[in-house]
Amino acid sequence: MQLSKYKNQNVAVFGLGKTGLSVINALVKSGARIYAWDDNKEQIANAKMMYRECNFIHPKECNWHEIRTLILSPGVPISYPTPHWIVKLARSYDCKIKSDIELFLEVKATNQKIIGVTGTNGKSTTVSLIGHVLKSAGKKVAVGGNLGVPVLDLERDAEIYVIEFSSFQLELMDKINVDIAVLFNITPDHIDRHGGMENYIATKLKLINGSEIAVIGCDNEITADVFNKFTGNKISISASMLPFLPFQCPNTGIQPGHVSDMKINLTSNAENIAAAYAVCKLLKIDNNTIIDGIKSFPGLKHRNELLGKIENVFFVNDSKATNAKSSEKAILSYKNIYWIVGGRSKEGGIESLSEHFTRIRKAFLIGESTEAFANVMGNKVDCMKCYNLENAFELAFEEAINSKEEVTILLSPACSSFDQWKNFEERGDTFCRMFENLRYNYMCCLV
Ligand code: ADP
Repeated sequence: MQLSKYKNQNVAVFGLGKTGLSVINALVKSGARIYAWDDNKEQIANAKMMYRECNFIHPKECNWHEIRTLILSPGVPISYPTPHWIVKLARSYDCKIKSDIELFLEVKATNQKIIGVTGTNGKSTTVSLIGHVLKSAGKKVAVGGNLGVPVLDLERDAEIYVIEFSSFQLELMDKINVDIAVLFNITPDHIDRHGGMENYIATKLKLINGSEIAVIGCDNEITADVFNKFTGNKISISASMLPFLPFQCPNTGIQPGHVSDMKINLTSNAENIAAAYAVCKLLKIDNNTIIDGIKSFPGLKHRNELLGKIENVFFVNDSKATNAKSSEKAILSYKNIYWIVGGRSKEGGIESLSEHFTRIRKAFLIGESTEAFANVMGNKVDCMKCYNLENAFELAFEEAINSKEEVTILLSPACSSFDQWKNFEERGDTFCRMFENLRYNYMCCLV
């Protein structure tokens, strides 16, 4: 993407991960003079090999009187727990701090539509679902942002961009002009990074404040309150809309893999489907096309993903459940659950899930939170301290298969993965590999 406004300008880029590299790429093409840095030496070495035309100089040695813009990666804290040193440095020279999405919005053509999605859980699924439906309606659509492809790497000539906004990206932005904003299910997450729940909510509100029309989820107390107070153009959505749509749609208590004529799990995706339906309606997509698109959506990996069945045991990979609220959806999707749970706990842990403990046959505790979660479960849930995923998988399967009933082994950690893994993908991929090995061994035994 060309950012012609920055031609011959001095621009600093801090953070050289996927987003930072996409920023450099766009700025190089646009003829900007770039000063790039990262706290991590390996990231710098990697970027140096890719972009020789950039200046890799420590920011403290740059001439900040001549740098008017700093593009910051979303992982870098601007306020809480304390502003990163690069933020303090840029601010001390009155240098404007921007995100990659701001650069993108500066150059988008007026006839290109932007759909923005934010919330605590369900963003990636919802942007992918909207993208899938619009594609099947024949629209030229690009999907990215916090999920997958950074916005500056998206094709230039899409009719519609569907963009996932994380709270970290929103934190960096002032005014955000989008055509349709989706805001749903705000629950506590990343609170330490936003200095409290109020700031977290205020950050999320930035997206609807700059929108032509806001689609707001009303199943959640916080966003329902936002809906009532919001004075702009708005429509409300709720999971309770689903029964009015033409799906075979048993809403609760479904067992994996049957009844529904949809590929994704309805219990955890009801709100996402309602949001996608509303957005596509606003874009004047015809009803049958929307419904067919929703039905054919395959879902995303690691999100309440049914892997398969061995004997009487279903296996579900929900590694992306990094907080209690997202695990709640998976727990409500199944009965007779052998729950693999734990990791680096978020504030509040799993206490909010205790009303659903009766659905759990047995919990297999992993990761840093093992002792704390064992205490929360107390004598309410039969649980076993396994400490790591390998142990938990083996022990859960042994018990599940011996139960002789239809049961589900559910990896839904309700925790981040950073205590034992690089990210949630690595954790989920390991679970999937263990399932595939087990399935292979079973097939070999049957021959
Ligand atoms: P995000 O991009 O916001 O992290 P994802 O679509 O990646 O959301 O889903 C993250 C986790 O939340 C998964 O465990 C998924 O099953 C669960 N989930 C998906 N949609 C919702 C929703 N609307 N409300 C609560 N949890 C959800």
